[in-house]
Amino acid sequence: MALVVQKYGGSSVSDAASIKRVAKRIAAAKRAGDDIVVVVSAMGDTTDELIDLAQQITPLPPSREMDILLTAGERISMSLLAMAINNLGVKAKSFTGQQAGVITDAVHGRARIVDVVPHRIRETIEKGQVAIVAGFQGVTSDTNDVTTLGRGGSDTTAVALAAGLGADVCEIYTDVDGVFSADPRIVPAARKLDRVSYDEMLELAASGAKVLVLRCVEYARRYGVPVHVRSSFSTHTGTLVTSEPTDAGLEGAAVEQPIIAGVAHDRSEAKITVVGVPDVPGKAARIFQVVAGSGVNIDMIVQNVSAAATGLTDISFTLPASDGATATSALSEHQPDIGFQSLQYDDTIGKLSLIGAGMKSHPGVSAKLFAALSDAGINIEMISTSEIRISVVTRADSLDEAVRAVHTAFELDSDQQEAVVYGGTGR
Ligand code: ADP
Ligand code: ASP
Ligand code: MG
Repeated sequence: MALVVQKYGGSSVSDAASIKRVAKRIAAAKRAGDDIVVVVSAMGDTTDELIDLAQQITPLPPSREMDILLTAGERISMSLLAMAINNLGVKAKSFTGQQAGVITDAVHGRARIVDVVPHRIRETIEKGQVAIVAGFQGVTSDTNDVTTLGRGGSDTTAVALAAGLGADVCEIYTDVDGVFSADPRIVPAARKLDRVSYDEMLELAASGAKVLVLRCVEYARRYGVPVHVRSSFSTHTGTLVTSEPTDAGLEGAAVEQPIIAGVAHDRSEAKITVVGVPDVPGKAARIFQVVAGSGVNIDMIVQNVSAAATGLTDISFTLPASDGATATSALSEHQPDIGFQSLQYDDTIGKLSLIGAGMKSHPGVSAKLFAALSDAGINIEMISTSEIRISVVTRADSLDEAVRAVHTAFELDSDQQEAVVYGGTGR
């Protein structure tokens, strides 16, 4: 008998029929003899709809109220799912994040889990019942206020509970059959990875592959929780995320690791160019102090060579588009003391990242990437690298084509049937 934490994403519980379908799956797993704890997301695109609703009330809602609003989404799905399971003759009880003992810091909208004290969940398991936990939410012990963990945060709830309960595995049920070598919505020839290492999954998630949220992978790696990403719409084995190296299902992969695990893309970033910065020591430091001081995290940075005649240079950097207004207003405020000429803001960029632990020991990966993009007529605007990742910024409208071109160039296209997307709106 195993203890299994199962997480169902919004696309798996988008309507009453889907909730009943998922309930059957949970009841069957319980009847087969395992102890089951379920983490559930809000139905379909509920979270986006609640955000839109708040925007119609005020452009800048207080973050505390926003968190109370958004946690309502998961309360709806958890109670309906518990009802559906009870209907099938298996006892189930739902719990909010607070009731489940998910304790966070006080940063509304992107709180971090600081502790998990799942007494009530343990009691429920001991009684032979299924515990259903609302994902994406917790409580801060400072004020007893409800918090949310940031978009996609139910994945983190699931892994944190699995760690806290000492579960054998954390199963993440979604609308595709696992982690693929690229987003199946963009690359139908993407291949399912049988295994992917925490390190590669971290880079994939950080680079926009939203099938798992970044913090959940960080948590899983820290506590050694094995994660099984699979579809709630099929019974296929999915992708196992562990410390073991990647096996992309290639022939002989167990002997020789493939160089590339996958291609990720991200459309959520924007680029700020600080134009005409005096090319003297300390200016870059000032610019990034100001940006950091406004609470904004930056990603890539490029500084151009200064024109000898003017002694001025341009510095560009990327950041989450949702932080664009904050960063530009902070910089504008400090324009007199930094002494730059103007700011340019561009939110029509896309980022492509090629990820693979094998590239560490393999020359020519960048050259092949750049050649693939140039053959497809796609211009590269910025480049950054880590030990196991190369990222490039392109125009947003050529990003899909870029992903497909790179996927093909690195021979990642599957010769099996096309990857299936079972549900979801891709929002
Ligand atoms: P859920 O509602 O289950 O949380 P998400 O929409 O958050 O689902 O994540 C699943 C989606 O992630 C898929 O439908 C797919 O479009 C997208 N995705 C992006 N990159 C990948 C990848 N490399 N492998 C699988 N899915 C990916
Ligand atoms: N419902 C939340 C969101 O849409 C959390 C999640 O689905 O993981 O971001
Ligand atoms: Mg998700």
